[in-house]
Parts: sequence; C-alpha cells; structure tokens
Amino acid sequence: MIFLDAAATTPVRREVLEAMWPFLTGEFGNPSSHHSLGDAAARALTEARQVVAAALNCRPGEVTFTSGGTEADNLAVKGLALARQAVNPALNRVAVSAIEHPAVEESARYLERFHGFAVDIIPVDGYGRVTPEALAAVLTPETALASVMYANNEIGTIQPIRQLAALARERGIPFHTDAVQAAGWLPLDTKSLGVDAMSISGHKLGAPKGNGALFVRGRTRVEPLMHGGGQERGRRSGTENVAGAVALATALATVATAQPTASGFTRPGQQPTAEGQGAPAVPGHAARVSGLRDAFIRDILAGVPGALLTGHPAERLPSVASFCFPGTSGESVLLELERQGIICSSGSACAAGSDAPSPVLMALGIDPEIAQTAVRFSFDSTISAQELVEVAGAVRTAVASVQALSGAWRA
Ligand code: PLP
Repeated sequence: MIFLDAAATTPVRREVLEAMWPFLTGEFGNPSSHHSLGDAAARALTEARQVVAAALNCRPGEVTFTSGGTEADNLAVKGLALARQAVNPALNRVAVSAIEHPAVEESARYLERFHGFAVDIIPVDGYGRVTPEALAAVLTPETALASVMYANNEIGTIQPIRQLAALARERGIPFHTDAVQAAGWLPLDTKSLGVDAMSISGHKLGAPKGNGALFVRGRTRVEPLMHGGGQERGRRSGTENVAGAVALATALATVATAQPTASGFTRPGQQPTAEGQGAPAVPGHAARVSGLRDAFIRDILAGVPGALLTGHPAERLPSVASFCFPGTSGESVLLELERQGIICSSGSACAAGSDAPSPVLMALGIDPEIAQTAVRFSFDSTISAQELVEVAGAVRTAVASVQALSGAWRA
C-alpha cells in the first residue's frame, strides 16, 4: 500500500510511542496530585510544554494543551473574541478567510448565532491566497479577531502570514493562524511570524489522535471554553492528557531533529532550548519532498489529459499535490486508485462522504462540477521518488478508465 493521505492523519512514530508509554503505564499519576506519582506526571507535563514552546519560539506559559486542532481553533476564535468583547462590547465582528477549516469557520458561525457577532469572510484569489489588501478591506474598528490559516488542508496553499499578522497588529486586532497542516513543514516561530495565537495538532505529525496545543501571546485574554478545576492556568480545565502532551512534544522534536538545519530542539527529559534562541527555520526534509512534489505535479499535468492543479503552483505545502480531473468523479478515481493499492482522498477528511463540492474549491472560483472531480495526494517525509513515479502511472490509468466509463455511460 502507498499511503498518500498524510494530511488526514499519520501513523504514530515509534519514538513518540516510546516517550509516551511510561505515562500510560507505570507513571500514570494525575499532575495535580501531591505525591510522587503526581509529581512525576507534573514534571513530564512541564518538560513537554518547554519542548513545545521551544518549537514555537515562545514561553512555556504561552502554550495551552488541548484535545487537538479543533479544540485549539475553537479556543482561539471563541476564546479571544469573547474575551475582547467582554472588555469592549463594541467589538462584535470576526474576520476569517473563505477557506478555513470548519473548526475555525464554525467557531465564527457560533459567535454569530449565539453572541451577536458579524462574520466577515476574507476572500481568496484563484490560488487560494489571502492578499494583505483583501484582509485590510474587511478589518474594521469593531473587529475582535482575524483568523487566517497558515496552509490549507485541501490545496496546500501557504498564506503570507507574516504580512497578514503585521497588518492586523497595526490596527490593534489580534491575529490567529491555524497551523495544523503547516506543522512539520514550515517554520513555526511565533515571534518571527508575529501571530497572537496559533493552533497545532499532534496526529498530523506522528503523535496519536486527540492532542494539540494553542499558543496565545503574553497576556492576551482568552475566555475558557472548559470550566472546572482551572488546569492549564485556567484556560482549559480538565485533567491534563500527560501522555498526549509528551507525544506532541516528542513528535515536534522528532520532526525537528530529522532536519539538518534544526537547532535547539530537545526531547522531554533533556535540557530544553532557552527561550529566544529561535526555533528552526524550514525543516530539512521539506526541500527534498518539495522537489518530489514538483516532479509528481509535472508528471500528472503532462500525463493526464485535462488535469488541473488546484492551489498555488509554488507557495504550497511540500506535502500536498491536489488536482481536478474533469470528466471523472473524484470518488471514482479514489476507488480505482485504492484497487491499485494507493490511498489518497478527494479533499479534507472532514468532508469525506459528502456529495457537496468543496467550499474551498468553490472559494477559488472553480466550477462546482469540476470541483467534484478533486483528488488530493498528501505525503509524509518518507515518500520516495520511485513511489511517486508509480503513483503517477496509476493515476493516468485510473483517470483514463473512469473517463472512459463515464463517457460510455453518457453515450
Ligand atoms: N485545522 C486544519 C487545517 C486541519 O487540517 C485539521 C484536521 O484535519 C484541523 C484543524 C482539526 O484538527 P484535529 O483533527 O486535531 O481536531
């Protein structure tokens, strides 16, 4: 089997499993307990937070562990907007891009339905990019928060986050970015990006499903969504998922140590990087995988008649190649490919099984009928040139056979 659906999820890395194992077994304490088992769990949590903070180039106190990317996005969008509105009731608008993951989009809609906010949608260009001009056009003195994802999960397009965050900051508006897909591929340095909040998720990086983190800058106020015992400095009550936090930290550190350019990443139990030393730049494997992705895109565009690349040709995640194959249905191509041992998807896993064309592709101005023919290939860092040559050949055959079938059916 060739697994090309890494944007949906990834298998747990061995190093991650080994690092988290003690906290599922012998060292199972509750970090709030005042005995030796509790202390060991609390220490592990502290170390995991330091490692995550090093990866994000922030202070450990700026990291809140969550149950994943969805919760981190909810906490960012609802938590920041509601906290600002509590101080100034005139702040009653949120701005989100037209291609956000539902975790952001639906959080904004919740604010609209239950808290009287207006949602301003920031349009994207034909490549799925938010320009600074488009963001500037929707920001108002009433905007409580702006949220634009770092890289899109369906088309891989990377946003100019540094410029967008700077623009929001000039206007005194907090800026959140969903970096769930960017993590492991793009620099996560919150200082140089200039973002006020950033979400990540463990299972896209080789940690198990159900853990993530939200960075929130300094003293930025966040209204909690979970109320209870006041864990995570009151931002997220509930007994902490110690093994999950260790897994997330180890996954981030492992991705980083696989990089020739990495500096200063540590594993839990080792000395963490001093804050301010700077998080690593672009992961080393990113350049190799980008080269393979480009060769794969060239192969598909040259070999599959009518194939269209979706998303930006260059400003895209190294790990994502996404296409429309007019004259097919995306789902039939997926089935054909799976028969040949290749697993990929028609877009986001959240929308799998839905007949509706992808809202992301529609926001790019793609015709709904063409949008139904979307197929996304997403790789992890182990992908090889040989595998992608095989996949390109299989795609040629799969598309041709689906086109022939649908042609015969129409006739
Ligand atoms: N944001 C983006 C861009 C995603 O791709 C995903 C997952 O697919 C999420 C948020 C949700 O993360 P999780 O699955 O950890 O809840």
